Amino acid sequence: MINLFDVRRQSARLRDKIDARLSTVLGHGQFVLGPEVLELEQRLADYAGCPEVITVSSGRDALLIALFGEGIGPGDAVFVPAFTFSATAESVTACGATPVFVDVDSRTFNMDPAALEAAVATVVGEGRLVARAVMAVDLFGLPADYRGLRQIAQDRDMLLIADSAQSFGAELEDAKTGTMAPVTAVSFYPTKPLAAFGDGGALLTDDPERAARYRSMRVNGRGPSGLQECEIGMTARLDTMQAAILLAKLEVFDEELSRRRAIAARYTQVLGNEIVAPFVPDQYQSAYALYTVQCDARDRLASHLKEAGVNCGIYYPTPLHLHPGLQKYGKGAGSLPVSERLSERVLSLPMHPDLTDEEVTTVCDAIMDFRQHVAVTPQEHPMMASAGKFRAAPPADYCSTGGAGW
Ligand SMILES: *Cc1c(COP(=O)(O)O)cnc(C)c1O
Repeated sequence: MINLFDVRRQSARLRDKIDARLSTVLGHGQFVLGPEVLELEQRLADYAGCPEVITVSSGRDALLIALFGEGIGPGDAVFVPAFTFSATAESVTACGATPVFVDVDSRTFNMDPAALEAAVATVVGEGRLVARAVMAVDLFGLPADYRGLRQIAQDRDMLLIADSAQSFGAELEDAKTGTMAPVTAVSFYPTKPLAAFGDGGALLTDDPERAARYRSMRVNGRGPSGLQECEIGMTARLDTMQAAILLAKLEVFDEELSRRRAIAARYTQVLGNEIVAPFVPDQYQSAYALYTVQCDARDRLASHLKEAGVNCGIYYPTPLHLHPGLQKYGKGAGSLPVSERLSERVLSLPMHPDLTDEEVTTVCDAIMDFRQHVAVTPQEHPMMASAGKFRAAPPADYCSTGGAGW
């Protein structure tokens, strides 16, 4: 079986480095906020080009601390994309604020600045909630449209928070993840680009006052002297053990990112005519947490791939405004059409740095096989049917680069 993720292969490949790091921790015994935590924070800061990095217990806790840290709570609106992992919006409900769902761009999967503008105008017009923050998500590893979003946040006096849980290592122009918004949250969950072997996360900011607040909030609101300093506190530290593992992985992180990008390039080259490949605009570099394609016959393709020994994933089958735990904050089916349509069309192909070239070929072959040999009804791609290209054979050399989708 070819899996979507495979952390066991990575752990075998890095076993010696990780063992050495863990054995140091077992030796010094500082399991909470030990020297590895500080070393990791320094290295992440250097890597991202961001002055302040505060590691925490998870990506969701990082988002929650960012919100608490601004005093955001009941009566406040936080704008989030409707097409993302539920934790984005759950961090907002956890602090008592109200998530306001915004539709996304159908090509980048990320928050659409024009839709944000409209959503903010509606909230301000209604006058029930105060528009306090925008939480942009870098879905599947591609940075959001920060140039557009920053301007809107600034004009409306809202804090822009980057939910970069999936995008550590990504780039926009010359900026790396962590420097595209005043506050950035990342996750080190095992399937994210830079991953611990357990939960972890970090906050990145260029503001020393925010950084001091976050450091205090992660230790129950205590300050450097141990006295209570912040009203709101959490137990939200990153374990020294996980920091040690992350330090070992950070050493090879750039190689792993290059491998992810090479796999993505190969998928796009082979499959670009058969499915809608992920779109990466100019001046953007994705961290490829996931390689997500779009197709109308999504569910049938997924079962075909499964039979061929390829495990895919559906991220996300339900947009947040229709999610059982969050729908009460939304306006129901039909209100956010792009997110709804994407949730029916997306399929994430296997993507991890230990995927072999042979496995990538197997995935591509299985998709080509589906296109050539499995009946697809005209309803499933009326555009191609009407263009007379119904069940067209793929190019012989598999080297098409066009973008016609189905
Ligand atoms: C994974 C993820 C989170 C939450 O991160 P955890 O470390 O699992 O708490 C938040 N937002 C997005 C977009 C994610 O993908």
